[in-house]
Amino acid sequence: MTGPAGRYAPSPSGDLHLGNLRTAALAWLFARTTGRDFYLRVEDIDSGRSSLDSAHRQIEDLQSIGLDFDGEVVYQSQRFDRYHAVLDELSARGLTYECYCTRRDIQQAASAPHSAPGSYPGTCRSLSESEREQRRAEVAAQGRAPSLRLRVDAPVHRILDYYAGEFEAPIDDFVLQRGGNIGQAGDFAYNFVVVIDDGDAGIDQVVRGDDLLSSAPRQAYLAQLLGYPVPEYVHVPLVLGPEGKRLAKRDGAVTLRELQQQGVDVPALICQSLGYPEAHTLAQLREVFDPAHLSRDPWTFRP
Ligand code: GLU
Repeated sequence: MTGPAGRYAPSPSGDLHLGNLRTAALAWLFARTTGRDFYLRVEDIDSGRSSLDSAHRQIEDLQSIGLDFDGEVVYQSQRFDRYHAVLDELSARGLTYECYCTRRDIQQAASAPHSAPGSYPGTCRSLSESEREQRRAEVAAQGRAPSLRLRVDAPVHRILDYYAGEFEAPIDDFVLQRGGNIGQAGDFAYNFVVVIDDGDAGIDQVVRGDDLLSSAPRQAYLAQLLGYPVPEYVHVPLVLGPEGKRLAKRDGAVTLRELQQQGVDVPALICQSLGYPEAHTLAQLREVFDPAHLSRDPWTFRP
């Protein structure tokens, strides 16, 4: 049996910057101050953008600012069998369907009146078997493989977020596995695997940047379909760069190593950014951290 747990789940496509480190620190603080275990999951599902070297550097950086983890580090790239098994289970329950649309098809159809921006209009949802065969052959002739979508039966789903409160969003038939080139399985989608990873690990508290709040209703919906308890969601404000946009590497010296080279005490800076200038380490912050005290506004960093 696993106990209650939180997690941090970075994508290993480069060094973590101050915004990522601050979110990681918050996830750790939320877990540790509520008696939870804290896990690290490497979201390296996208093989083109992920590297093991980057994962190792991220883990080193997280440890060096004072975070500790329980259990083994989980790598998504080692869980493909599990994702396939869940996909098969959903398909056997009649909850998936092939989609033959290109991005362009979707954009065109979704620009019709009454459809939510960016949402899938359901073009391939109700095709007959003979229509499917025809479309399958057409995309195969173009060298493409279909994607797999979830057949969603709730137009909106509501979650409870620690800061945002009740949050509701429309859910479309989102992609579980992307289409690829013919003969090659496409990548599994983030919104699919994140639910399986959190559910399998017994994670009951999800703390992450508030850019992902809008994804939470579909993830919670899928968790329920798969029989996992829905976790507590805590979406935290992001760090902004000098231009008022989300902090990015192009904003200058923003990674741990770059900041250290400039003599910045990064844990102290994180404590200050969270409203605790008197704390200098995350261990000290853990003693005094009160989630109710966190500003709901993003924090602006000027390198
Ligand atoms: N891997 C995602 C990211 O780095 C985080 C996903 C999550 O926390 O659910 O943005």
